[in-house]
Amino acid sequence: MDNAQFDDVIRGLVEGRTSRRDAIRRLASVPLGLLSGQRLVVAAAAPNSCKKIKNKKRRKKCKKGQAHNGNPPAPTATATLLAAGDIASCSSNGDEATAALLDGLSGTIATLGDTVYEDGTAQQFSECYNPSWGRHKSRTRPAPGNHDYHTNGAAGYFAYFGAAAGDPKTGYYSYDLGAWHIIALNSNCDEVGGCGAGDPQEQWLRADLAAHPTSCTLAYWHHPRFSFGNYGNDTATKALWQALYDAGAEIVLSGHDHNYQRYAPQDADGKRDARGIREFVVGTGGRGHYSLDNPPPNVEAYNDNAFGILQLTLRAQGYDWTFVPEAGKSFTDTGSGTCH
Ligand SMILES: [Zn+2]
Repeated sequence: MDNAQFDDVIRGLVEGRTSRRDAIRRLASVPLGLLSGQRLVVAAAAPNSCKKIKNKKRRKKCKKGQAHNGNPPAPTATATLLAAGDIASCSSNGDEATAALLDGLSGTIATLGDTVYEDGTAQQFSECYNPSWGRHKSRTRPAPGNHDYHTNGAAGYFAYFGAAAGDPKTGYYSYDLGAWHIIALNSNCDEVGGCGAGDPQEQWLRADLAAHPTSCTLAYWHHPRFSFGNYGNDTATKALWQALYDAGAEIVLSGHDHNYQRYAPQDADGKRDARGIREFVVGTGGRGHYSLDNPPPNVEAYNDNAFGILQLTLRAQGYDWTFVPEAGKSFTDTGSGTCH
């Protein structure tokens, strides 16, 4: 059997043209020394064949072998994440404007806290958030803000989003999107036993990062580590940034400051660092605006008058960003980065 014939057998298995029995018969002509190696290839090339094995032990072994051989293949498809925080209010039309943008954008939606004003009550979720961003609820993965906690335990927030918001006791959780690992954290530190080194959230984060050694990682939470608008830098989340930095994470998204800020990659102390994490503040969901003056050196772009959505295209080894402004506004910001 030459290489072309061998490839034909494998392709036949994958495409379903060749039965497993027929493939084994044709491969039987292969010299014995090659057979074990080629059997491995056959197992890898027929990812669904394990289900057909009747013997339970052998079926388990087959599945284990598939995982070992990388089947099903790791997801490499490009994915989209759409993000903004500080969103809905019955006394503002900003959330209607940004929800209209979402109508035309596909992808998973990350809400960056302060989901609905003023207090995140069940009534405000149903009357002020649900009519705008609520129509995209099924593709939304939220993080809680301080206004969500104006209601005790952020009960309105957790009841509205259900399982998509994680455990109501913690509000932090993670998921995979394309080739990326995505982590939603809870920067309402007093509500979850702290955000410092050794606190439950930081320990969970380090364990989660260790369990998901992807080359591309993004995290989001409400209160920005770095900001120069209505709020300044916030050291409360420094240990979380450090854990992400240690794991080689790429991006952090936050809200709270009602404006848009993009930073160069930085370490946990705010020192510019090619191995560092790029922060975007995207408090542009619709509530209002806080002005920005005198940007610090690591700020690469900013705006304080356009509501909008940050659109992130997450590729297998990098990312592209675009700030999509509400209708009638022209500010935008685009660029690309690579994963560490
Ligand atoms: Zn806030």
